[in-house]
Parts: sequence; structure tokens; C-alpha cells
Amino acid sequence: MSANLSFSETQETRLLELGVPCSDLAQGFATKAERNRAFQEQERALARKNREQLRLLLEESHEPALCALIRTLAATLHAMGFTQVATPTTIPRLFLERMGITTRHPLHRQVYWLDAKTCLRPMLAPGLYALSQRLLNVADLPLRLFEIGSCFRRESEGHRHLREFTMLNLVEWGTPVDERIPRLEELMRLVLDAGNLKGYRLEEEDSTIYGRGMDAVDRHGLELASSSMGPHRLDPAWRIATSWVGIGFGLERLLMSREGGEDGEGGEGIHRHARSFTFLDGVSLNMK
Ligand code: ATP
Ligand code: MG
Repeated sequence: MSANLSFSETQETRLLELGVPCSDLAQGFATKAERNRAFQEQERALARKNREQLRLLLEESHEPALCALIRTLAATLHAMGFTQVATPTTIPRLFLERMGITTRHPLHRQVYWLDAKTCLRPMLAPGLYALSQRLLNVADLPLRLFEIGSCFRRESEGHRHLREFTMLNLVEWGTPVDERIPRLEELMRLVLDAGNLKGYRLEEEDSTIYGRGMDAVDRHGLELASSSMGPHRLDPAWRIATSWVGIGFGLERLLMSREGGEDGEGGEGIHRHARSFTFLDGVSLNMK
């Protein structure tokens, strides 16, 4: 008898929810009975593993990976002379316009509006620009700032996109023009290495909003971070006239890349690493 029967869709969904490695889903079975038995065994084993991970969190570490990553990256940047800031999660329409995100821009359709003049920030850059505009009047160069916080985009949520995700955005105002590329590379590596990311590569990229920059991409082609530099065409709208470099990292993407096994792109996807009511620290809470 050939072994060409695979797990049913419901079984597959359940095993993925419990964190099965993608390679384990490729098994074939000769009969339904054999398949169902394998499913039950796997489900039991995975649920046990989830319960053990949850026990470790509640009784020992007390800190989910996302929170630990935020803490580690913030400490790394503090030690490099970057000052942490916290700007509002809601921003005025004017800020988006100054970012060049007018109704014609593709990102405009992804913005969550609270009312005609206010939206949830789809990125941290406008808040950092607004704050820096004032700080640059009183502070010396180089001025190094960063923020870590939620950003919101109306995405058709797939494997790699969340509607709410955690961004780390850093900016260094006053980087000498001919040092921008090596500095971007240095800062990219500093953050990714502090986050314990392995096997990533840096690629030159052209973004519709930020212009020429560099992306960090993991070994499965997943974008981890995007960067930008100035003088930039958006700077005059913020009354900023200095050279700079900036990078935005998606922290759930870093976790997805770091925790995903060798077998597949981020293992089971980004959702288990998200701010969530159904997952906690990568553990499915949907267990009996
Ligand atoms: P992508 O092309 O993957 O949709 P992007 O180029 O639109 O990403 P950026 O605006 O460059 O994203 O944002 C900086 C970083 O934030 C990205 O490199 C990625 O790590 C993360 N990011 C962006 N959108 C999302 C999302 N919807 N969910 C999770 N992380 C995201
Ligand atoms: Mg990008």
C-alpha cells in the first residue's frame, strides 16, 4: 500500500498552531487510521512541549522573548550613545503628508484613521522627525535617538505581516556624508547581532518613501530591517538640514527569523511572536 495520505487541513492547522516543524507535516500515511493515530500522538507531544514552555515562562524566566528583545536592544543602543524616546501612537494627518504619504501613495490605503485628522502611526519616522526638529535647535551633533513601539498597517495578514507590529527605529543626525553607508552597515550589524540573529545579509534597496538605503534580509529572504539616509527630499518639510542615517527593524520579524528552524522560513510564521491573546511567548494557549 502506498503512503500518500497526508494530514487533513484541520489537523495541519492544529499542529501548526502548536508549533510543529514544517518538515514533520510532509509525512505520508497508508490509511486514515494510521494518519489519525500519528496526529493524536503529535498533538499530545506538542501540547506537552507547549505546557512545559509556558511553565518555564511563568515560573522561571517571567519575561517573554519580545519583551527581552526590547530590553536587550534598548540597552545596546543606550551603551552606543542613543537616547530612547517615546512619542505618541496616534499622529496627525499632517505628519503623514510630510512623509509624502498622500492619497496617491500605496501606504495611504493601509493607514488606520481614528478621525479625519488623526491616525495610528504606520511607522515611527514621523514622530522621530517631529521631535528631532525641535531637539536639533538645542542639542549638539551628532544626535542619536531611537524609539521602540507599536506601528499599525492595514495588511492582508499573511505569514510575514501583522496589523500591529513592534518597530525599533533609530536615527543618527550629523553622520558625515561619506560615512553614511559604512555607518548604516555598522548599526545594522550591531542591532542584529545584539538580537542574536544569524545568517542575515545586507542588500542595497530603493524605497518609495525613504529613497536609497540598505535592507537586512534573512536566509529565507525575509526582510528584517530597512534603512535610509539624508540629506533627503523629505527633510525640508520637517525643517531639517543635516546629514543622517536611520534604520527601522521589525521586532516580531527578528523573533520569527531567530526562532524559525532550519527547515523553513520562520517556521510557523509571525503570529506566535505577535502581541496576542492566543499566543504568549510563542506558546499556543489553545490547549486542553
Ligand atoms: P514589507 O515589504 O516586508 O511589507 P516594508 O518594506 O513595507 O516591509 P518598512 O516600512 O521598511 O516595511 O518597515 C521596516 C521594518 O518593519 C520591515 O523591515 C519589517 O521588519 C517590519 N515590518 C513592516 N511591516 C510589517 C508588518 N506588517 N508586520 C510585521 N513587521 C513589519
Ligand atoms: Mg522596507
